[in-house]
Amino acid sequence: MNKAVIAIHGGAGAITRSQLSAEKEQQYIQALSAIIEAGQAILEAGGSALDAVTEAVRLLEENPLFNAGIGAVFTHAGTHELDACVMDGNTLNAGAVAGVSHIRNPILAARAVLEHSPHVLLISEGAETFAQQHGLEPVSSEIFSTEERWEQLQRARENHQTVLDHSSHEPLDPDHKFGTVGAVALDKFGNLAAATSTGGMTNKLPGRVGDSPIVGAGCYANNANVAVSCTGTGEVFMRTLAAYDIAALMEYGGLSLHQATERVIMEKLPALNGVGGAIAIDNEGNVALPFNSEGMYRGYGYAGDAPSVGIYRDQER
Ligand code: ASP
Repeated sequence: MNKAVIAIHGGAGAITRSQLSAEKEQQYIQALSAIIEAGQAILEAGGSALDAVTEAVRLLEENPLFNAGIGAVFTHAGTHELDACVMDGNTLNAGAVAGVSHIRNPILAARAVLEHSPHVLLISEGAETFAQQHGLEPVSSEIFSTEERWEQLQRARENHQTVLDHSSHEPLDPDHKFGTVGAVALDKFGNLAAATSTGGMTNKLPGRVGDSPIVGAGCYANNANVAVSCTGTGEVFMRTLAAYDIAALMEYGGLSLHQATERVIMEKLPALNGVGGAIAIDNEGNVALPFNSEGMYRGYGYAGDAPSVGIYRDQER
């Protein structure tokens, strides 16, 4: 029997000790630890990896510290367009939504697509109608708005930039660099699952979709090898099919989890100016949390163990 394990991320970026106040740092550590513990509790009770990653991402969406659900960034038009994906490594079923503005928890809509539709990806109004038909109450998109995100948009507009939360060159207040969220898990039955959810990039064009809801780009799970959730410059993760590339390097190239994640995150993405990271768990329960940015909000916990959480580069990962 496997040792069940969950890993989560809350985005990667230019996060350094000098930029993050001690108080804010504690808020992140506490939020990440509590969400890992919630995932561990599901796995310890015999729950599925799919349930554990869905719940972990739902909790991350509920937390305004992170750029997903409540606290999502604004588009150029001052609106919110959210993307999410969930994948079951046991069946290779996946569900995703993109460009939704009236679903409180996009990850639950993605899960509904996985469970109740023959499709993989639904967008905008069609996704919202489908979510409503499956019991998700529509919400006003104002619930996603926060003052910090609005200020981010104004600065990005002034600078004519489309801004990743985590760009090290962006002119934004460093206290406000938050990111996409994700979770990967292995349950005690040997099943892997992955989930990713995001508000995307500040000042993105309306209609822009990133890597997060694209199977194989920002999210992938296959019991044969690995579950992966990514965060970073979405367009580069799409062009490299980063999540699937990690799985393919393991499957066809015989690389270990560590070798495959290092190859993609530390070599292939930077070659195209891709900034960010990934969390990954292989089917033996090994965990990798690599990133090529200054930091990544991240952590993991094996069933029965205390969570291990990090933000900066020099912390355990
Ligand atoms: N990858 C996400 C996107 O491009 C952004 C992020 O990770 O923060 O939409």
